Amino acid sequence: MSDSLSPSNPLPLIQDVTRQELREWLVSQDLPAYRADQAYTWLYQRRVAGFGEMVNLGKPAKSALGAHFRVGRLEPAEALHSKDGSIKYRFALEDGRSIESVLMEHTDHHTVCVSSQVGCALGCDFCQTAKMGLVRNLTPGEIVMQVLAARRDLPDGGNLRNIVFMGMGEPFHNYTNVMRALEIFTDEHGFNFSQRRITVSTSGLLPQIRKFGQERVKANLAVSLNGVTDEVRTRLMPVNRTYNLQRLVEACKAYPLESRKRITFEYILMKGVTDSIDDAKRLIRLLHGLKFKVNLIPYNEAPGSQYRRPDWEDVRAFQQHLLNRGVVATLRISKGQDVQGACGQLIVGQPHIRSTAAPA
Ligand code: SF4
Repeated sequence: MSDSLSPSNPLPLIQDVTRQELREWLVSQDLPAYRADQAYTWLYQRRVAGFGEMVNLGKPAKSALGAHFRVGRLEPAEALHSKDGSIKYRFALEDGRSIESVLMEHTDHHTVCVSSQVGCALGCDFCQTAKMGLVRNLTPGEIVMQVLAARRDLPDGGNLRNIVFMGMGEPFHNYTNVMRALEIFTDEHGFNFSQRRITVSTSGLLPQIRKFGQERVKANLAVSLNGVTDEVRTRLMPVNRTYNLQRLVEACKAYPLESRKRITFEYILMKGVTDSIDDAKRLIRLLHGLKFKVNLIPYNEAPGSQYRRPDWEDVRAFQQHLLNRGVVATLRISKGQDVQGACGQLIVGQPHIRSTAAPA
């Protein structure tokens, strides 16, 4: 039996359901709870397309699951292959909306960048996704299926090591569904991802940062900083009007970090806006007292953008200033730039995306 993600099959998506919920549901059907563990292994480790392929499940459990759930599958409507080995996907959802994900290739592993919403409500001035506004939240299954789809494209022996929530959307605006997706990603019978290998990136929503610190699943926290004065940050990220820098830093200081963990601050370097040595000095003063590292991201110029990519010497000087003062500062050369798959560039249906398609 093969199930499909289609409006003609209105059963609930099995990928929206946590294993614990599935166990409880099976018990309510007078079936053994451990069938949920087996079904999870088939779904996320053996990656079957339907309940009929779950051969050790037993007929009663297979029939009950097939009568009440469907196995979803995201097929890329578009897959753009970058020269650096990254692949940017556009997935069409069953309501006709589209989302994007990026599979990034590193020397010995891969990272998948997933979306958490269709569009985003936060309105960051430099971000392509912001132009869409918020359309809707993704379900846990729609988040999970992005990873399943990307994993199908791994080369033989490939190692999908990291999941980052840095695609379309503010993950903490879709808090409950993102937490459910994290539960599925880290489930020992499912993907069995290490919590240390999952990073959730927020624009700085303080109530959710506090809540995230209390969660059982301890994924890494990343904060999009991008401005080191309230004036600049508010211009780039309107969320700073509600949660200004001082409050953001206080919340990060109160965040319960496990030993050897740090908060990552993402900092986009934009020519003449955020890339001066004075900015580097302010950044150090601002984050003093925190356990942190900085991820520097040279801005990717998008068509029509008012911001510019920084000069390479300024990028290096900024990083060196931080390194010389003992700050862990990595330079992220965004993957997938030639297919507009880099940070802040995910937007669906823009002509420039199609025009950069490379042969698969
Ligand atoms: S940068 Fe992130 S939070 Fe800001 S608008 Fe874009 S997707 Fe939303």
